[in-house]
Amino acid sequence: MTRIAIIGGGIAGLSAAWTLEKARRAGEPLEYDLYEAAGRLGGVISSESVDGCVVEGGPDSFLTEKPAAAALCRELGIADQLLPSNDAERKTWILVKNRLIPLPDGLMFMVPTKLIPTALTPLFSWSTKLRMAREFLFPPEPAMEDESVAAMTRRHFGQETVDRLVSPLLSGVYGGDASQLSVRAVLPRMVAMEREHRSLTRAMLAARRKAPTPSGNPSPARSLFTTLRGGMRLMVDGIAAQLAPGSIHLSTPVQALHHNSEDCADPKPPDCRYTCGWTLETAFGEEKFDGIILALPAWAAAGLLRPVDRLIGGLLADIPYSSSITVTMGFNRLDLRRLPPGFGYLVPPTEKRSMLACTFVHAKFTGRTPPDKGVLRCFLGGAGNDSLLDESDTHLTEIVLKELREILGLEAKPEFVRITRSRRAMAQYGVGHLERLRAIRDNVVQLPGLALAGNAYEGIGVPDCIRTGQQAAETVIKALKEQTVPVSA
Ligand SMILES: Cc1cc2nc3c(=O)[nH]c(=O)nc-3n(C[C@H](O)[C@H](O)[C@H](O)COP(=O)(O)OP(=O)(O)OC[C@H]3O[C@@H](n4cnc5c(N)ncnc54)[C@H](O)[C@@H]3O)c2cc1C
Repeated sequence: MTRIAIIGGGIAGLSAAWTLEKARRAGEPLEYDLYEAAGRLGGVISSESVDGCVVEGGPDSFLTEKPAAAALCRELGIADQLLPSNDAERKTWILVKNRLIPLPDGLMFMVPTKLIPTALTPLFSWSTKLRMAREFLFPPEPAMEDESVAAMTRRHFGQETVDRLVSPLLSGVYGGDASQLSVRAVLPRMVAMEREHRSLTRAMLAARRKAPTPSGNPSPARSLFTTLRGGMRLMVDGIAAQLAPGSIHLSTPVQALHHNSEDCADPKPPDCRYTCGWTLETAFGEEKFDGIILALPAWAAAGLLRPVDRLIGGLLADIPYSSSITVTMGFNRLDLRRLPPGFGYLVPPTEKRSMLACTFVHAKFTGRTPPDKGVLRCFLGGAGNDSLLDESDTHLTEIVLKELREILGLEAKPEFVRITRSRRAMAQYGVGHLERLRAIRDNVVQLPGLALAGNAYEGIGVPDCIRTGQQAAETVIKALKEQTVPVSA
């Protein structure tokens, strides 16, 4: 029987466990154990119900265009919980000089594709608007090497587009700093477009023209985001309910990992090529496994792998992380009647505020709050703002209420407040991330039965983490099978 350990019970580790469980049910001779340091599963995913409102401490939804999360929900039998964002109401505001300005229609990330809304928006100065028009006619040369998202944006559309659009979008999504994030890792589609068309505006317009369905009609609009009506935690609970009894070990941090090359404790069948194995240590003792899936933040994986392989440990430790704080406040809906329409607003770092973004939860999704309640979910922290993590709940509440008063004119007191601190939770794909990833992969394949999963590698969102968990499980199953084929085969 092949034994596989999964270390980390966030959505990546759980997805790996679910893939192993499905393989086991299909007749693979394997068993698995999942080790989680905390007393509960889910990692940064945490949902609770407060006064009938769903409050998410971590992710509140996922991008609909990435299929892994919705597919997982269908497999788990919770597809009836899938809830699209209320895109008829979708509007995002940007705070500029203490004034909320709507994102103009037709913007595809940082690329303007509609002339009139771009010409009329007060978001950009006339010189930026001229720069945008120039990009269509005289695009810059494509970059030969990886660069930051800010650098690419600046080359095409100027610094103001970085400050007022790209920085707030990235700090809202990634808790990230546009001047550090790799454009090749974070916006690979833009890089491909630049290579092909030079002008990003021309490329986006061409992509739009190519988008019709086979019937010739434009494809029906899909919601941008999807959530689960009862909370993102339903995915976590749904997987946990399917796993083999006794396979989950909560409050059991793995303290050390050893690779037992040439030191197989259990003698293997004589025709087995597999001469290695893994031992992990917890407070409860040692356990031996054939395969290991590390579904941890890269810094935690680095700590366990450094004694096994210094190079991989060092590469993982170099992946930076940012922290974030969500402050969720529930109000009487009447108190929010003066809120601008839409999903919420983003705050550029140039505004020098603590808040990075605020989502109007009751407007983004219908049915996650009772009709008489409204919920504001505010983000603080992000790259370079870790000091806020040590502030008391009282102080964080004061900061948020002060900024809501100044930005939205909101004077009402919240009926409830929930604060979640996510320390070093968001991987930051810095310039050169893809090369680092290649080096990690090249070295990990040298360690039989090892696979990595989580948000440090190929996407930070929930669907990407699910996909990396599934792939890690498949990789380990395949690698272990290949190593146990008879030598004569
Ligand atoms: C505030 C916030 C909002 C977000 N919003 C969104 C969103 O709206 N949409 C979206 O798609 N994504 C969002 N994300 C990103 C996404 O939620 C995460 O990238 C993803 O959930 C990470 O999952 P994971 O399993 O890789 O890691 P984690 O959830 O970090 O899980 C790792 C687990 O490993 C455990 N662990 C650590 N060390 C050990 C050890 N030695 N032994 C055993 N266990 C250990 C930890 O306790 C943890 O449970 C958000 C993230 C945050 C923090």
